[in-house]
Amino acid sequence: KSKLLLDLQKDIEGSVVSYPRSMPIAIKRAKGSIIEDVDGNQFIDFFGGCGVLNVGHSNDFVLEYVKKQQSELIHALDFPTENKLLLIQKIINHLPKSIREEYKVSFGGPTGSDAVEAAIKLAKIKTGRDGIIAFTGGYHGMTSGALAVTSDTFFRNNLTSLMPNVHFAPYNYPYRSTSNNNNEIDGIAYFKNILTNGHSGISKPAAILIEPIQGEGGNIVPEDGYLEELVRIAHENDVLVIFDEIQSGFFRTGSFLEFMNTSAVPDIITFSKGFGGIGFPISGLIYKKEVEAWGPAAHIGTFRGNQVSIAAARGAFDFIEANNIEEHTILIGSYLLEKLQELESENPFIGEVRGRGMMIGVEFVKDKKNKEPFPEFVKKFRSQCFQRGLLFEVGGHYNNVLRLVPPLVTTYNIVDAAIAIMKEAIAVCMEEYLE
Ligand code: PMP
Repeated sequence: KSKLLLDLQKDIEGSVVSYPRSMPIAIKRAKGSIIEDVDGNQFIDFFGGCGVLNVGHSNDFVLEYVKKQQSELIHALDFPTENKLLLIQKIINHLPKSIREEYKVSFGGPTGSDAVEAAIKLAKIKTGRDGIIAFTGGYHGMTSGALAVTSDTFFRNNLTSLMPNVHFAPYNYPYRSTSNNNNEIDGIAYFKNILTNGHSGISKPAAILIEPIQGEGGNIVPEDGYLEELVRIAHENDVLVIFDEIQSGFFRTGSFLEFMNTSAVPDIITFSKGFGGIGFPISGLIYKKEVEAWGPAAHIGTFRGNQVSIAAARGAFDFIEANNIEEHTILIGSYLLEKLQELESENPFIGEVRGRGMMIGVEFVKDKKNKEPFPEFVKKFRSQCFQRGLLFEVGGHYNNVLRLVPPLVTTYNIVDAAIAIMKEAIAVCMEEYLE
């Protein structure tokens, strides 16, 4: 039956579909960390709806909030509702105490890309400048502005003039650091040069836009001190700092937002994905009051702040608090990381296992010394895992990284089952390469 639906999809849906190409399943239902297809096959979901399902598929606790809300009010544009204002208060109360008074919240459209567009526009309006410095390997979305600041040229093929004055600085990538100087944080000198001395003739930008942990780029955690130094230099030059926390946010790394694991403080934060609780579309900005520059109704949209999505977000916050999910994320994340590090130590092709909380990357290379990327191995490995019932996304600067973003509620038993599948799959792939 799965095949029938996949074939029908090929016939009648636009060829732009992406995920079913590498994970050919037709989904029937899903609960927690488990997906079931239309034929009754079960899959462990380490893909998490692309880092969305932090509290698990169809979480019952969150569903209660959704059911209640949908019988009361669903669509309210940007009118005030108790539901919405409660969520804004919840978001602000989860920021560090010392800075929470400084921030306000606004909702974007339903997608992460909408939030990125809003952040870019706000920075431009506030500063009166139009340049953005983004980072190599960064991913920010598919609408024109968000795409212009996404570095992978694959997505921009045959498209020109998306947005002027975008410049890419190298993202700090500890595993592939090129810095020879131990006192220099890799990537900082280049960044500083762009901002202070001018580079390729770029004028002073409105903002820098960065993921505090790069998601699609391969779940890369930058070196300690990198984000702090970027923020320091940007602020010294009167340039705004936007952290894209669409993927790293909503407790994914064990803290409400990843920047809270550092001492770097951004001016604008984008949010989406996990905020929708169990997959409801929601997005927006958390930004410093001093950055406020919108004129009344200067950035509008029909689907800003859907009430069911907002109720789901409140439900997810309450679920996380009631069940101590922050702590569980840190514990289960380090358990998964440890198990993967065991695989790394036994396997000649795993170059690095890295991550924070439940945002983990496993990078495959042909040779641990020269670190040449090995995307061909990853492709085979992923397919072997898929056949045994484990789903995850592949990404990275060279398409050679397993991107593991499981639901935060994943249990130890499920992690063990996933690791067992990976061990089997890796053995099959190794046979081929070691022959
Ligand atoms: N920013 C980041 C960091 C993301 O990971 C994504 C989605 N992968 C986006 C923005 C875009 O979000 P959306 O797909 O909802 O437009």
